[in-house]
Amino acid sequence: MPPWLYPPLKSLLEPTKESIEFVRRKSIEMGENLGDTDIKLISLAWELKSSGEKVILLTDDYGIQNVASMLDIPWKGVFQPGIREEVKWKWRCPACGKTYNELVRRCEYCGTQVRRTGIGRGRKTT
Ligand SMILES: [Zn+2]
Repeated sequence: MPPWLYPPLKSLLEPTKESIEFVRRKSIEMGENLGDTDIKLISLAWELKSSGEKVILLTDDYGIQNVASMLDIPWKGVFQPGIREEVKWKWRCPACGKTYNELVRRCEYCGTQVRRTGIGRGRKTT
């Protein structure tokens, strides 16, 4: 049985394109760079939850936990206590200090590789 979803799914379901798009957009907004499998997993949980099913995402991936929290999908860490609150990511250039709200690889001013910084609910966590 897939360790991801509880209760176990009777059959393997595929999330719709719409919910995949929705979740992808949300995760990008939050600054989470999740893979296709992660996005599909969250989309599926989101769909099941919307249709009234009781779902709990079992995952130790902080990115998934973060997006799930934002979408109000209950989750549980398998081995780790998990994040305490949603984290909004920002990116900051270590060279010139410019901050970005969206994922950028390189600073548009000086070309330095930009680092990710977590911002929890208006409170700085770094
Ligand atoms: Zn810079």
